[in-house]
Order: sequence, then structure tokens, then C-alpha cells
Amino acid sequence: MLVVEGIKASYGHTEVLHGVSFTAEEGKITTLIGANGAGKTTTLNCIAGVIKPQEGRILWKGQDITTLKPSQIVRMGISLIPEGRHVFPQMTVAENLEMGAYTRKDKEGVRRDLEWVLELFPVLKTRYKQLAGTMSGGEQQMLAVGRSLMANPELMLMDEPSMGLAPIIVQEVFKVIHQIKEMGKTILLVEQNATMALNHAHHAYVIELGKIVLSGSGRELLQNPEVEKAYLGL
Ligand code: ATP
Repeated sequence: MLVVEGIKASYGHTEVLHGVSFTAEEGKITTLIGANGAGKTTTLNCIAGVIKPQEGRILWKGQDITTLKPSQIVRMGISLIPEGRHVFPQMTVAENLEMGAYTRKDKEGVRRDLEWVLELFPVLKTRYKQLAGTMSGGEQQMLAVGRSLMANPELMLMDEPSMGLAPIIVQEVFKVIHQIKEMGKTILLVEQNATMALNHAHHAYVIELGKIVLSGSGRELLQNPEVEKAYLGL
């Protein structure tokens, strides 16, 4: 289980997380929804060790990871897929996927995961030798997720995977997120697309101005009038 306990984080003198607490259960999809600037990305960056919280703790499977370096956190099985995809545009799909596995020594496991990733994303198989930068936004998002899977993470932190994608592609991305969960991975998903996120999450949290203000099952929050009004555009 991932436990985030009362984290506070700042940029310069401006505190943007004011004691954020939540949990993400192993093997489940947990989502954090909220408006622009609410603190979603900052929260993920704290878990990945990119930003250090001034207060609070982050525990993964009972171990305190709050002060670990990003590289140590990666080695503990935690992988961040940042907003905006960030594939290597001048490398082929194949090279991008290889990069995802570069710290791994288990050649057999890497081969197995590559097979699985190409099964999960048939488009990456078709485009295997193509430069990543020449692919569509949706394809690059699939590649970013595929590359992250090549590290064989246990916990995947996904920052707005649906951003900028056509609705039909968004559906595909969520289908894949579900399949990844079925493989036993733990997913913490940050989204502005609240309807999709709540429809797919076991548990959900609403973050507003650096604080968690609501939580419940995805279904509960979908039916919550406050959430409907503020986030579902009804
Ligand atoms: P978005 O969906 O727009 O990415 P978010 O919920 O992920 O929003 P954050 O990116 O975590 O929000 O931002 C939280 C607050 O911190 C915002 O007020 C933002 O302006 C501020 N902030 C984020 N990054 C920086 C930075 N590098 N320097 C200064 N302030 C920042």
C-alpha cells in the first residue's frame, strides 16, 4: 500500500501542498482529481522523489521513502509517467522501449515484458522502427506507458494520461490502464478528465488548492452533487 501522510510542499516561499493525505491500495486504481493548479502534479513528484516535502511522510509497502533519491525510488518499483508524455523523439519505438528497461539485468524478464507490451499496444509493434517523434499524440502516450512498463514497476504514477487526446483514444488509454491493473500493478492516476477517471477508479480523492477535500469510491464520487457540479460539467 502507498501511504501519503500530511505532506506539505513549496515552490520557493509559496506552499502549494498544505498537508495532503491519502492511500493507494495495491493492485487497485486510485485517482486524484482536481482543477488546474490544485497540486496533483506536485503530489506525484513528491512520491517520485523529484520534489521533497517539507513535512509529512510517504510510505510504500511499509517503508518510508520520503527522503530517498528518485533513482532509489525507481529501484523500489515506483515509476512516474510525467504529464506531456516525454518520449525520446529522435529514437525509434524499439529504442524507447529498451531505454525503459536499461537498469534491468534479468534479460529473460525484459524479453517477456517486451512481448507483453507489444501485445498490449499492437500499434507499437507496427511502428517498431519508426521515430517516436513522428507518431501521433495517442501513439506517443501508448509508448510512454509501454516504456514505463519495461521497467517492470509495481506502482505506476500516471500524470494526466488522457491530456490532449481525442475521446476515442482516451477510451483506449483507459482500457489499457485497466489491463495493466489486471496484471497486478498498482496505479495512481492523476486526471482532469474526472468522468473517465472516476468511472475506472476503485477509490478516488478530490484535491483543491493543495488539500484533499473529498474521498470515496469512484462510483460514490460520480454521484456526489458537489463533484458533479465542480468537475463533471453537468
Ligand atoms: P495541472 O493540472 O495544471 O498540472 P496540478 O493540479 O497538477 O495542475 P501543480 O502543477 O501541482 O497542479 O501545481 C500546484 C501549484 O503549484 C500551482 O499553483 C502552480 O502554479 C504551482 N507550481 C507548480 N510548479 C511550479 C514551479 N515549478 N514553480 C512555482 N510554482 C509552481
